[in-house]
Amino acid sequence: MLYQITDNTYYTPSSEETDRPNLGYIRGEECSVMVDSGNSPAHVKEYLDALAENGLPVPRYVFLTHHHWDHTFGLSSVDDFMVSVAGFNTNEKLKEQQSYIWDDEHLNAYCEDNTIPLFCKPHILLEYPKLSDICIHTAMIVFKDELRIELGDETLVMRHLTSGHTDDCYYLLAEKAKVLFLGDGNSEEVVGTDWIDHKEPLEGLIKQLEDIDFDYCLTGHVPVYTKNELLEDLKERLAAVS
Ligand SMILES: [Zn+2]
Repeated sequence: MLYQITDNTYYTPSSEETDRPNLGYIRGEECSVMVDSGNSPAHVKEYLDALAENGLPVPRYVFLTHHHWDHTFGLSSVDDFMVSVAGFNTNEKLKEQQSYIWDDEHLNAYCEDNTIPLFCKPHILLEYPKLSDICIHTAMIVFKDELRIELGDETLVMRHLTSGHTDDCYYLLAEKAKVLFLGDGNSEEVVGTDWIDHKEPLEGLIKQLEDIDFDYCLTGHVPVYTKNELLEDLKERLAAVS
């Protein structure tokens, strides 16, 4: 399944069962870009099949919004034919995750100290019946402040995002389409099975978003927001923690 946001922006929808997030797509004159690499090779296959069914070219670049498993664990299956791009903090966290041991015993230990939130455990187990199949790759291009990719008829701008979800959130803005890809940047911090808002990063996020010129926003796990809807939602949450 593939949904269209604007003339040149699309996404495959999230699914709750194994917590697969929305995966974005920007079609450019010169080349196309994937946003987030999915939670597994099977998730990536679903995405590429949807593009093929709709006659859309395979992306040349894949941008990672943050390091969480559901947004990055599919990267190993696209490394042969896409160039991966991530912010510095995301790549550092991916390197850290490469040292994890993937078996039941270690997963339980990671969940106990919230290295991996307990919320993720059933989803990971369902997506990976054999945990040892998990293979984590890092990005090929890493940026610190800002990165731009020129697609011919579209310019993509990637920057760090203030977010309470994790300190390695980055956004991608398709400037001409005015579509902002946020990953989980609008989400709370996940601790165990709880979603916790923090006042300061939420204030910073609202301020940052107000200054970005966009009409629509694709986040990680719900359908598209307009800029107003997103800001209203965040301001309601801010009022609840203030
Ligand atoms: Zn996340």
